[in-house]
Amino acid sequence: MEKPENQKKMDSLTAHYKKNLLGYKTQLQEAWAETQNIPESLHLIRNIAHRLSGSGAVFGFAELSQRASQLEWACEQAIESAPPEYNATIFERLQDLLSCIERSTGMDEDVDDTNEPASINSLAPSAESINLLLVDDDPDFSAQVSQVLNERGYQVHCLEDITGLEQAIARHQPLALIVDMDFYGDQFAGSAHVFSWRRTDGTPLPVFFVSAFDSFELRLAAARAGGNHFLSKPLDIPNLISLLHSELDLAPSEPYRIMLVDDDDDLLNLYGSVLSQAGYNVSTATSAKQALSMLEYKQPELIIIDVYMPDCSGLDLGKIIRQHEDHATIPLLFMSAAADTDVQLACARLADDEFVSKPIEPWRLRMVVKSRVSRGRLLRAQGGTLTAPEAAIHHDPLTSLPTLSRFRIAAEKALQHTTQDHFSAVMKLDVRDFHTINNVHGNFFGDRVLQQLAWELSRCLNSTDVLSRENGDEFLVLSHGHDSRDSVSRFAKQMIQTLETIKVDAARSIIAVSVDMGIAIASTNIKSAAQLLDHADTALFRAKKSAGASVCFFDESMLDDEKRRFNRAQCIRQALSDGQFTPAYQPILSIDDTTVVGFEALARWQHPDEGVLGPGTFISLMEEQDLIKELTHQMLAQALAQLACWQSRQPGLYMSVNLSAIDIQQPTFLAHLEALLAEHKLPPESVVIEITESLLLSDWEQASVVIKALRNLGVCLALDDFGTGYSSLSYLHRIQAGKLKIDRSFLQHWSHTGDSRLLQAMVQLGHTMNMTVIAEGIEEREELDLLHQLQCDQYQGFITAKPLVAKEIEGQHWV
Ligand code: C2E
Ligand code: CA
Ligand code: CA
Repeated sequence: MEKPENQKKMDSLTAHYKKNLLGYKTQLQEAWAETQNIPESLHLIRNIAHRLSGSGAVFGFAELSQRASQLEWACEQAIESAPPEYNATIFERLQDLLSCIERSTGMDEDVDDTNEPASINSLAPSAESINLLLVDDDPDFSAQVSQVLNERGYQVHCLEDITGLEQAIARHQPLALIVDMDFYGDQFAGSAHVFSWRRTDGTPLPVFFVSAFDSFELRLAAARAGGNHFLSKPLDIPNLISLLHSELDLAPSEPYRIMLVDDDDDLLNLYGSVLSQAGYNVSTATSAKQALSMLEYKQPELIIIDVYMPDCSGLDLGKIIRQHEDHATIPLLFMSAAADTDVQLACARLADDEFVSKPIEPWRLRMVVKSRVSRGRLLRAQGGTLTAPEAAIHHDPLTSLPTLSRFRIAAEKALQHTTQDHFSAVMKLDVRDFHTINNVHGNFFGDRVLQQLAWELSRCLNSTDVLSRENGDEFLVLSHGHDSRDSVSRFAKQMIQTLETIKVDAARSIIAVSVDMGIAIASTNIKSAAQLLDHADTALFRAKKSAGASVCFFDESMLDDEKRRFNRAQCIRQALSDGQFTPAYQPILSIDDTTVVGFEALARWQHPDEGVLGPGTFISLMEEQDLIKELTHQMLAQALAQLACWQSRQPGLYMSVNLSAIDIQQPTFLAHLEALLAEHKLPPESVVIEITESLLLSDWEQASVVIKALRNLGVCLALDDFGTGYSSLSYLHRIQAGKLKIDRSFLQHWSHTGDSRLLQAMVQLGHTMNMTVIAEGIEEREELDLLHQLQCDQYQGFITAKPLVAKEIEGQHWV
C-alpha cells in the first residue's frame, strides 16, 4: 500500500536520524579509545549521551534514550570524582548504548537510508496539507461539506463505510475527523468505531461527531469515544469552521509563523515536522547568527530557542532579539534538557514565560505553541494595547486553560439556564500527593504532570464544557447538559478512568496520577456561582478525607458537618486557653533490665463533659485550624517542667515530645524550646523531639532547616513510626536522628506470620547508623522476648503501662 505523505516524511526523518546514530557510534568509540590520553574525551562522551538521551526518546527509541541517560549519569559521576574508579561502569554503559544503537539502526530495512531528510521547506504547510477525514454514509452530505471546506483551504477525504475508519486514518493521516454517528440505521455505529480506534491509538486527534439525531445517550456515547464536539445536522458550517480553527489552531489563509532555533539537527527536523503537520509555518535555524539573519523576512510570531548552543547561547540570542526595536515584542520560549536553575530563571525572566524542559513530547509541543501564538495574535488584534500580563488574565500560562474568572462567568450563565431536567455540574479535582511529586521530582516535572492532566481532561469534555485550573494542582470542570445525578456520576467516572491511564515518565521512574473529586450539581436553589464552587470544594474536602472512594457528591449534611467541625474548633480554642490539654506519660524501658529510661508525652484533652479524649479526636482539627502550634507549645512547657522535676530524683531520664508537620512549616516552637531548656537547666540531650518521615517529606527543604536548628540546640531527634513512611533510607541518612522508633505494625506482622526478618533488618539498620532502637506498642511477653533476641534497645507498650498522668507514674515508683 502506498504510504501517506506525512508518514513518508516521518520515515525519512527517522532514517536520517538512524544514519546520524551510526555517526555518533563512531564518535563514541573514538572518544572512548582516547579517554586514557585525553581526559576531555569523557566530556565528549557525556555530551553525546546527553544529546541521545533527549532525541532518542522523541524519535521513539525509548531504550536507546534510557541507555544514553545511564551513560550520561556514569560520565557525570566520573567527571565529578576520580575517573579511574568509574571507568568500568562507563565502559559497561557505553557498550550497552553501542549495542542498542546497533539494534536500533538495523531494525527495519524498509527505509531507504540514503535519503536526505525531508527539508523543512518541503514540509511547510500549504493549504492542501490540512487534511480532514469525513466519514458519512450520505454522499450528498459529504459532497456539500467537503466543497465548503475545500474552499476554506482544507483537504477533505471522504469515506462512506465506517468499518474502513482505521485504514483511512492510516492512509490520509488527517488532522481531525468528522464522523457521522448513524450508519445504516445504527445510531451509535460512528462512536462505537471511533471508540475502538481510540483504544488502540493514542493520537489525540480531534473528533467532530455529527448526527441527525440528538439525545443524551448519543452525546454520552460521543463523549466516551473521545469526541471533542457534537454537532447536529443540518450542519452550521460557520460554527464547524470556527471550531476547526480553534481545535487545530490554524487559519488556513494565514498559518502561524514559528521559528525554531536549535543546534541539534535531528530535533530541529523532528519538531519542525511536528509543527508543520499541525499546520504551522515553520522556519528553522541551527545557530543564533542564522536565526538573526532570518528574522527580518520570516517575521516569526513565536521563537523557540534551545538554551545550550555553541558560539552564542540561546539566552544571549534572546537578549539580542529583545534589544532590536523591530523584534522586541516577539514572544520567546526557551527550552533545554539541562536543569541549571539560574539559567532557567534568567530565561524565564527574559521571555516572561515558563521554561520548557526537553525532550518535549509532540503533543506537549503543540500545546505550548498553541497557547502562545494565539495569545500573540490576540495582543496584536488589540493593537498591542493589551500587555502580556493582561492577556495572561484570560489564560493560565502553564496549561493554557481559561482562568478562574472566566470559569465563574460560565458557571453563572449555567445557573441561569438551570431547570429540573437540564442542569450543569461543577467538579473540583485535586491531584493526590502532588506536593510529594513536586518534592521528589522537582517543580518542572510537577508542571509537566499538570499540563498532561489538563490535556487529558480537556479531551473528556464536550465542546461547551469548561475546564480551568484553580490553583496549584486543583482543576475545575463545568459540565453541561445533565438530566440526572447518574449521568453526572457516569461522566465523573469516565474522567477518573481517563486520568488513571496517565503515566508520566520521570528520570528514573514512571508516575501514575490519581485524583480526588468533589461534585456540586447546579440547582435552582443555588444563588451564585460562588456558592456552587463552595459546594464543590466542601465535597472535595470530604473526598480527600475518605481513604477509599475518591469521588464525593455535595449534600446539605456536609454543611452540618462543617458546622459541627467549626463548633468543635471553637471548643478546642477555648479548651487551649483554659488549660484542658495535658500530657499523659508513657514509660519507655530498657529491654535488658526493664528499667525506665524515659517517657513519651502524649496529649490528652480533659473534656469537662466528655471525659478524657485522645489525640485522634483533636489533632487533625487542630492542624487544620492552625491551633497545633499552641498545643505543641503547651505540651513542651508541661512535659519539660515535669522532666526537670523527675530528673532531680533520677538523673538521666529523657522526655519525648511529638511534633506536627505544621510545627516544621512554622517553627515557632524553637525559641520556646530554647527558653525552656534554659529555664529548667535541662541537659539538652535529655529532650527528645519525635518526627515522622511523612512530616519531613511534606517539605524537605524547610524540614532540614528545622532539623539543623534542633541539632544546634543539642536536643535529640527520634524518627517516629519508622517504616510506615515513604523513603526511609535516604532520609535516615540525612536526618542523623539519635533514636529510631519501630512502628507497632511490624510486631503485628511478626505475630501474624512468624516472620521477623523485617524487624531484624530494622534493628540492625538502626544500630549501623548508631541509633538507639525503640519498639513501640509492646503488648505481649513473646514480643518482648523476640525484641530481646533481636537486641533491640528499648520499648514502650501496654505490657508495662498505658500513658498515665504524672501522679500515677509517681505512684508506680517509676521515678
Ligand atoms: P505515636 O507518637 O506513635 O504515639 C504512640 C501511640 O501508641 C499512642 O497513642 C499510645 O497511646 C499508643 N500505644 C502505646 N503503647 C501501645 C500498645 O501497647 N498498644 C497499642 N495498640 N497502642 C499503644 P495516642 O496517645 O492515642 O496518640 C496517637 C498519636 O497522636 C501519636 O502517635 C502521635 O502521633 C499523636 N500525638 C499524641 N500527642 C501528640 C502531641 O502532643 N502533639 C502532636 N503533634 N501529636 C501527638
Ligand atoms: Ca510519637
Ligand atoms: Ca509512633
